[in-house]
Amino acid sequence: MHRGVAAVAEHVAGVRGPWTGADVATVAAKVDDVDLDRPLDDMADVLAEVRSVYLDDAVWFHEPRYLAHLNCPVVVPALVAEVLVSSVNSSLDTWDQSGGGTHIERRLIRWTADRIGLGPDSDGVFTSGGTQSNLQALLVARGHAYLAGTASRFRIFASRDSHFSVQKSANILGLGPDAVVTIPTDRRRRMDPVALDRAVWSARAAGHIPMAVVATAGTTDYGSIDPLAEVADVCAQHGVWMHVDAAYGGGLLVSRRRRDLLDGIERADSVTIDFHKTFFQPVSSSAVVFRQRDALRHVTYHADYLNPRSSAHPNQVDKSMQTTRRFDALKLWMTLRAMGADAIGDYVDAVVDLASAGHRLMVEHPDLEVVTEPTLSTLVFRFRPDGMSEDDADAVNPGIRQTIAGSGSAVIAGTRSDGRAWLKLTMLNPDTTLDDLHAVLALVTETGHHLLDDHDVQEVR
Ligand SMILES: *Cc1c(COP(=O)(O)O)cnc(C)c1O
Repeated sequence: MHRGVAAVAEHVAGVRGPWTGADVATVAAKVDDVDLDRPLDDMADVLAEVRSVYLDDAVWFHEPRYLAHLNCPVVVPALVAEVLVSSVNSSLDTWDQSGGGTHIERRLIRWTADRIGLGPDSDGVFTSGGTQSNLQALLVARGHAYLAGTASRFRIFASRDSHFSVQKSANILGLGPDAVVTIPTDRRRRMDPVALDRAVWSARAAGHIPMAVVATAGTTDYGSIDPLAEVADVCAQHGVWMHVDAAYGGGLLVSRRRRDLLDGIERADSVTIDFHKTFFQPVSSSAVVFRQRDALRHVTYHADYLNPRSSAHPNQVDKSMQTTRRFDALKLWMTLRAMGADAIGDYVDAVVDLASAGHRLMVEHPDLEVVTEPTLSTLVFRFRPDGMSEDDADAVNPGIRQTIAGSGSAVIAGTRSDGRAWLKLTMLNPDTTLDDLHAVLALVTETGHHLLDDHDVQEVR
C-alpha cells in the first residue's frame, strides 16, 4: 500500500503537462506485450510495469492545461476515503453488508435534497454517474406515468443541447425511436419554455402521453441552464414529471455566489447530480434524488436472501438499480468533514470566473469566435481569422485540436455546433490560471496559422 502511494505521488510530482501525446498504437503495444499468464515476482516490478502501461501516458486532470472534458482534479480527502472504501469493501445494497455506510449515504442524500429544497418526503440514492442517474429518474417517471397509458405513446421533452443519455435512456426503457422530442434553445442555448409548452400541447393533441420534461442545469457543451422556474410552470400546468439533469451544474448548490442560478430546481420531481464533476470527487460518485420517496417503489424488488419484504433494516438496494454497490458516499462525506461545502463551492466559483475571463479573451481576439457567453465553465469557440469561410474553419479547427493533443502541451476538446466544427474548453480545475488560458489560446491561434501556412486548406481537409 505504501509503495503504491509513493509510486503515484512520485509520478505525479514529475508530471509536466496533461499528457504525453502518445499515439494509440504505441500505448496499445505496451499493454499487448504483457504476458498475463506469467506474474511478476514482487510488487515493485508490478508497479514499474504499471508505470509503463498506464501512468506514463495517462491523461492528468490536475494539470492546469487539461481543458477538454468534464473531468475534475480530485480533492485529497476523497482520495483518503477511496482507500477506506476499497479496503473495507462495504456493499451498500443492504444494511447487513454496510452498517454505518448506509446511514452515511442516507445523510448525504438528505443533505443534497435539502440543498436542492425538495422537501421532507424526498429521497434518493448514489449511482455510478449521471447516465445512470438520468436512466433511473426516467425509469421512475415512466413507472409514474404508466397508469395513464402505453409506453409507445410516451414522450420525453428535452432541449437540443440535453445530454445523450436522455436518448439512450428512452431506448433502454423501450419507449421507441420517437420518444424524445427536441425543444429549441435561445441564443444562450437555454430551452425555450414557450416552445416547450407548445410541444407538450401538440403531443397531447396527437394522442401522445407527456411522460417527462428533462431540464438541463449545465449542458455538457455550453454549461447553459434551462429556465428552471418557467419549465416547472409548464410541467405543473400539464401535470408532467420534471427531471433536472444537474450532472454538471450541481456544484452550484454549494456556491456562495451563484446558488441563485439554480432557482426553480426545488420544484423538480427528480434531480441528477454528478459529484464526480463539480464536487471534485473521484469517479464514480453521483446521485439521483426524488421529491417523493414513494416514487422509488418503481425500482424496489425483494429477494428472500437479501432484502425480504419483512426486513426491518434500511436497505438501500430497495432504491437502487444496482445490487452490489460501492460506498462512494464516504468520499463526499470525508470531503465535507475535512474541507466543508463552502470550499467546494469556492472552487466552482473559481472555474466559472475563469470561464468568463476566458470568454473576454476570446471576444477580444481577432482570430477567435465564441458561440455564447458562459454560464458555467465551458467555452465553445473556433479559430476563424477575418475573411475565413465557414467551410475552411471546419477544415482547420479539428486539425488544431489534433496537433495540440499530439504535442502533449495542452488538451482541448472539439464539438459541433449548428453543423459546424468548433473547439471547446472545459474548465474544472481551480488551479488553471488566466495565464494558462492565454497560453492555450495562443497555442490555438499559432497552430491555426501554422496549419494554414503549411498546407492549403484543401490539404488540411
Ligand atoms: C456528464 C453528464 C452526464 C452523464 O454523466 P456520467 O457521469 O458521465 O454518466 C449527464 N448529463 C450531463 C448534463 C452531463 O454533463
